[in-house]
Amino acid sequence: MPDRLFLFDIDGTLLYTGGAGSKAMEQAFADLFSISNGFGQISFSGRTDTAILKDVLRFHSIDSLDSALVRLKELYLQLLPQALPQNQGYLLPGIEELLRSLQQAPNAILGLATGNLREGALLKLRHYGIDGYFRDGGFGDDFEDRSMVVKVAIERLAPDGEAVIVIGDTPLDIAAGKANGAYAVAVATGRHSPDDLSAAGADMVFVDFSAWQNATATLLSLG
Ligand SMILES: [Mg+2]
Repeated sequence: MPDRLFLFDIDGTLLYTGGAGSKAMEQAFADLFSISNGFGQISFSGRTDTAILKDVLRFHSIDSLDSALVRLKELYLQLLPQALPQNQGYLLPGIEELLRSLQQAPNAILGLATGNLREGALLKLRHYGIDGYFRDGGFGDDFEDRSMVVKVAIERLAPDGEAVIVIGDTPLDIAAGKANGAYAVAVATGRHSPDDLSAAGADMVFVDFSAWQNATATLLSLG
């Protein structure tokens, strides 16, 4: 069987941080610019960290956008390790079993396609004990556009044209997968319902991965 690359989103797909990520961003923004609740009007769901942080800086008309963005990213990454244990989060249903069973399949490559900054992604995965499953991925450090994150992940992990399956919890994950010719699998463990995700064009929708044995067999048959 040909190799298959599985690219997982993190928040809402693998785990829920209890809001640790957004709280660490709020705190960093408040510490740097003395503005509290700065993200009130900013959308997080499915977006890259670079897009979210640029948005908040523009929304509040912060000068020197590029240097402000660098400082904001740095402070966010400093605050995230404390925010993770302070907020009650969890791995989503069946995730650890699904990752373990996919990893044991001889023709599966596991990677990430996430809007998180690389270091933020690793902090979250390490906190919940699943950092060892992923070979590499695409991250939100360099791109605002999620489809570029998926593109880079494919270049890094499937340079020989392997079938690619993108797994995420938002319409933006689905669009990013489709833009790269990947199979788009959605899981309704984030803020979007199965109907929303089907309407957004998902090739397949799971309510969650609690039936991980069936999900593993199904995922390994795609592509
Ligand atoms: Mg997500």
